[in-house]
Amino acid sequence: MAYITINRQNFYHNLNQIALKTGSKEKIAIVLKDNAYGHGLKLIAKLASEYGIKHAVVRDLTEADEVKEFFESVLVLAGESRVDEVCSFAINSIEQLSGMEKGCRVELKVDTGMHRNGVAISELDEALDMITEKGLNLVGVMTHFKSADELGSDYFWQRKYFALVKQRVNERGFDNVRFHSHNSSAILRTRSFDEDMVRAGIAAYGYDELHESFDKTDLRPVLTLYAKKVATKVLKAGQRVGYGGNYTAPKDMVVSTYNIGYGDGWLRATDKAPYQTSEGLEVLGRVSMDLISFESEKESLCIMDDAQKAAKHFETISYEIMTALSSDIPREVV
Ligand SMILES: *Cc1c(COP(=O)(O)O)cnc(C)c1O
Repeated sequence: MAYITINRQNFYHNLNQIALKTGSKEKIAIVLKDNAYGHGLKLIAKLASEYGIKHAVVRDLTEADEVKEFFESVLVLAGESRVDEVCSFAINSIEQLSGMEKGCRVELKVDTGMHRNGVAISELDEALDMITEKGLNLVGVMTHFKSADELGSDYFWQRKYFALVKQRVNERGFDNVRFHSHNSSAILRTRSFDEDMVRAGIAAYGYDELHESFDKTDLRPVLTLYAKKVATKVLKAGQRVGYGGNYTAPKDMVVSTYNIGYGDGWLRATDKAPYQTSEGLEVLGRVSMDLISFESEKESLCIMDDAQKAAKHFETISYEIMTALSSDIPREVV
């Protein structure tokens, strides 16, 4: 099998960088959704908790149940809810409130401009009324930025709207409510962080997705993907490799197949320029379901140690490269 290594030192370095922005590690909620961005849910939860992270964000209750032992609070972004001492549930719409059980811990998501989910600012009072009527426990109010990574004013006007939301929630007499809006891009760009918590995903995993005109934060990739050799062949000049015979050996050469393919979540991509590993080896011919060919004899090859570079090649984003990696690939901490 292919395998993944998780670099503890780099992960902690990234968390340190984020903590410098928030002022303390207690203010970081590590975003663990989608198998911790492909890094391994439980493994990252454990590392984060050993570092001193107290809060996590997950996609649903299934993920929450796997990691709740490690944290003081776990925010569940969608799906089913229940009364739980550790888990709180994001409220994405007014309708969602009607189905919730009394005593449930909820965090109200307010739409300040992204227009994906969350209650509108004009619905804020109605949502707060319902929370009171239904006996729900409001523990947080949040919003999400639509384009904190871009050089534009959206981030600022969303912050302004969110300030109004905070004011209104306070006026209505709700206390012990945590306010949070910042994702990675927002925390990396901000010069004045004064909220209770940041929801940090991609930056913790080592990637700065801000537009290049912003100051760069030194972040280090945490995940490295390796594949092991399956077989080696000597090809004669003119022989072709793989499905469709897309690659023709220009000379006699030693070619090996390695055990990763699109079945493991590695992108197959197109027949355009071949993907290059960090050692400069080019994929020869097409990627198969479980195999890939390189001109190499090494027992194991580093396929990727920088998801941003890979994303550039595959014309996508680092998030997709990493979350696509199958959860069956063994992951170990180094
Ligand atoms: C995924 C997610 C985040 C984390 O975003 P990054 O850009 O990876 O830091 C934060 N908040 C919410 C609501 C999310 O869904």
